[in-house]
Amino acid sequence: MRPSSYIIHVPLSDTDTVLLFHGYSGAVDLVSSRIAALLLDPSASNGKFKRSLTAETLNHLIERGYLTAKSAQSEQAYVMALGMRVHAVMRKHASPGFLVIPTYSCNLRCTYCYEKDLQARESSWLERRMSNDMIQALFEAMERVDLSARRQKCLTFYGGEPLQESNRTVVRLLHEKACERGFRQFSAITNAVDLHHYTDILGQDKGISFLQVTMDGPPSVHDARRRLADGGGTFERVARNIDLAFMKGTRVSVRVNVDRENADQVQWLEDFFQRRGWTQRPLFRAYCSPVHGDVCGNQRVDGFASHQKMCQAIRGDAKGCRSTEEAPHFQIDPVTYAVQKRILAHLSQEQDLPFWRTAFCGSNMAMYLFDPFGDIYPCWEVIGHPEHRIGQYGPGLLEVDSKAVHRWHHRSVVRIPACRSCPYLFFCGGGCEALALRSTGDSNQPSCSEFPKHFGEAALKAYREWTIRHDKKTSLTGS
Ligand code: SF4
Ligand code: SF4
Repeated sequence: MRPSSYIIHVPLSDTDTVLLFHGYSGAVDLVSSRIAALLLDPSASNGKFKRSLTAETLNHLIERGYLTAKSAQSEQAYVMALGMRVHAVMRKHASPGFLVIPTYSCNLRCTYCYEKDLQARESSWLERRMSNDMIQALFEAMERVDLSARRQKCLTFYGGEPLQESNRTVVRLLHEKACERGFRQFSAITNAVDLHHYTDILGQDKGISFLQVTMDGPPSVHDARRRLADGGGTFERVARNIDLAFMKGTRVSVRVNVDRENADQVQWLEDFFQRRGWTQRPLFRAYCSPVHGDVCGNQRVDGFASHQKMCQAIRGDAKGCRSTEEAPHFQIDPVTYAVQKRILAHLSQEQDLPFWRTAFCGSNMAMYLFDPFGDIYPCWEVIGHPEHRIGQYGPGLLEVDSKAVHRWHHRSVVRIPACRSCPYLFFCGGGCEALALRSTGDSNQPSCSEFPKHFGEAALKAYREWTIRHDKKTSLTGS
């Protein structure tokens, strides 16, 4: 018998206790720090466990998976087989994520543009729009890629800027054809500057029911960062158009792209959301996302290496910011918040099994992005780069590169050698594949992005919330 290699320890600072999570059994327990220390000791022997623990506690630790008879090697082999099986089941039930890029062009010139390499290309490439023939071919390709008729059909508009005024004809045609083919849910990642030209296709009933829109601070800050091609500001138009979206019943998730230039403006935005009445709307949420430090064109962006660093800067600059604690409508740290909610659901037994995350995102499940040139991509981080495409479509054409599809869609956490021995693996999913590719050139490398730190913080918050809800600070299991 030895301590499992998949135990996560989260000490509760105000007591002599430790929260234990087991990485694959789903067990969560509160134990004394003496027991936790014993489980941290890789050399602890059977005899030591028997001498140090009551028979009841010993049996409990074995049943919950913290003590195992498996060697480290066979435990890892077990985890690998388990991860492959769970990922296969999840893929089987996952609805494919279909995203369509009507054009790569954009009406804004953001200082930190995420697509700066694409937006710097010649205008003839950027201005290419999806033709009617390509739209027809697109839906035929989607039907052949996804053979399951019973699945919920969802389509997301992506770009460039998909909902710019000059895309009206092509987006309407895409929407109309999608409705004819049984698509019922639509969403868009948009800067919302021209959204007022699309009100007729907004809404819950076969309309665009979800939008992700970016706001970066007060008008002076937002307008300097997210300006029109002619240099004009966009804040007022975006705010008005978000109001319009709410009137049509469309959900809006406001993303705040944060670097050192606007970290101290997050509080202003939170107050603005409240003054505008958005925080009272169930259709509204907002969250922060770090802009990574880089050079955009000639401009140096003073960004953050991680979510954690961004949160520290926001919290340091905006002491007392309400969002730093519980604020479901505005998450400064959406990574921690998402893990916290999952742990809380598990503690509250809203789900019997833990919500295993065998992969980081839809790109590792069943995501397909279709661009106006006939290329199919697995992830929005690699669009416009044919070396990363997973197929091609066009009138009378559908070619899928099955090797490339397999590499993306089967990248489960257990396929990443460095993740196989990590106790966080089924909470983390192995991190972003595109990030791994960019930073190491190898998609089968982990992208930890400080996940263990997020997990520790999330576990403490979830436990605190759980004890408040249940009004009991006793142990979860009595061990
Ligand atoms: S809206 Fe998006 S694509 Fe357009 S310039 Fe800004 S970051 Fe780039
Ligand atoms: S990416 Fe890092 S934290 Fe996540 S499972 Fe892999 S090794 Fe663990």
